[in-house]
Amino acid sequence: MKSNKTKGINTVCTHEGELEDKQFKGAVSPLYMSTSYQFDDVDVKRYPRYYNTPNQEALCKKLAALEHAEAALIFGSGMAAVSTALITFLQAGDHVVLQQTIYGGTYHFAVSQFERFGISYSFTTGWEVEDFEKEIQPNTKVLYLETPSNPLLTITDVKGVANLAKKKGILSMIDNTFASPVNQNPIDLGVDVVIHSATKYMGGHSDICAGVVAASQEHMDKVWQTGICFGGSLSDYTVWLLERSIKTMVLRVRAQNENAMKMAEYLYQSEDVDNVYYPGLPSHPGHDVAKKQMKGFGGMLSFELNASIDTSLFFKQLELIKPSMSLAGIESTMLSPTKTSHALMSAEDRAKQGIKDSLIRFSLGIEETEDLIADIEQAIAKVKAMSVTA
Ligand SMILES: *Cc1c(COP(=O)(O)O)cnc(C)c1O
Repeated sequence: MKSNKTKGINTVCTHEGELEDKQFKGAVSPLYMSTSYQFDDVDVKRYPRYYNTPNQEALCKKLAALEHAEAALIFGSGMAAVSTALITFLQAGDHVVLQQTIYGGTYHFAVSQFERFGISYSFTTGWEVEDFEKEIQPNTKVLYLETPSNPLLTITDVKGVANLAKKKGILSMIDNTFASPVNQNPIDLGVDVVIHSATKYMGGHSDICAGVVAASQEHMDKVWQTGICFGGSLSDYTVWLLERSIKTMVLRVRAQNENAMKMAEYLYQSEDVDNVYYPGLPSHPGHDVAKKQMKGFGGMLSFELNASIDTSLFFKQLELIKPSMSLAGIESTMLSPTKTSHALMSAEDRAKQGIKDSLIRFSLGIEETEDLIADIEQAIAKVKAMSVTA
């Protein structure tokens, strides 16, 4: 398959980059586990940490096509992708502007590691383009955004930030994990570098840990140079599994979008719920921008129960929805960001970002919406009954 632009996304997911099984004519890409390849009389020196084994190269073609990028690389985790990408484009003396409410691990990476590399950083105080502009210094080299963000699903104007970066000669970088390539393609909006935790929607079954960086060939050559030093490559077996997972990504994510929309509407009208954060709701402050830049509003939402309903007790009463870490699997999960994803952040910083202790992050799976709603209703009823008898 040569031209990516003309193929529909489901065709790209199913076929792009696939390896032909010349020997047995099997339907799927064969898996090559070799860590040793011939060096003589060949063009490419293949080695897993060089990100160029047959399965790695095959998957990278699919990933690049999905993000409308010239090239992509696959890493051993989302954080390997985030850290390798940032360190590639930053060096001692540089400054980076990071959006507020980014993934907890990325926040932790910045505050715990940048100083030793001599890199300075600022966090935006909001999510508007002006908030990024305000933080720019003469030595700013990267603007880093994440939209929809974790865990409050704030929306940033991707094109606005990308244009600002272009105007100032700064590189723009986005964590596109929450949207997935199904719902948002930042390169079409002018962003330079796109990052994913493939552990989430790309893997989609809560059994793969991986990361992706996608950009122009020129940028990816630089990421590769750093990547071979940091050594964050992914095992070929997991690469092969991820190729398999991505084949059904569009079907999964669209079902999750639909579930999240219905769930957001249900929670919004519920008297037991104080706040719902979902960009698909017209009441969400980022709704209009989300409508312009996204093809779907995603499978993630957050909400707060009434203060009278104890959140930890509520988690314990759930029967179908799993109170568990991580997100984006085909099974629905909930967690408390204060206790998990944002536990490394100080209570003060969490409060600044509007992350309350009662906040619940909800990752919608593909179960029937009615069953999920029934589970929430029975859990709330049980907690209420407990507080009456207590
Ligand atoms: C999970 C996640 C990451 C980190 O990915 P890992 O695969 O856990 O290393 C980065 N960004 C976002 C938005 C995430 O959800």
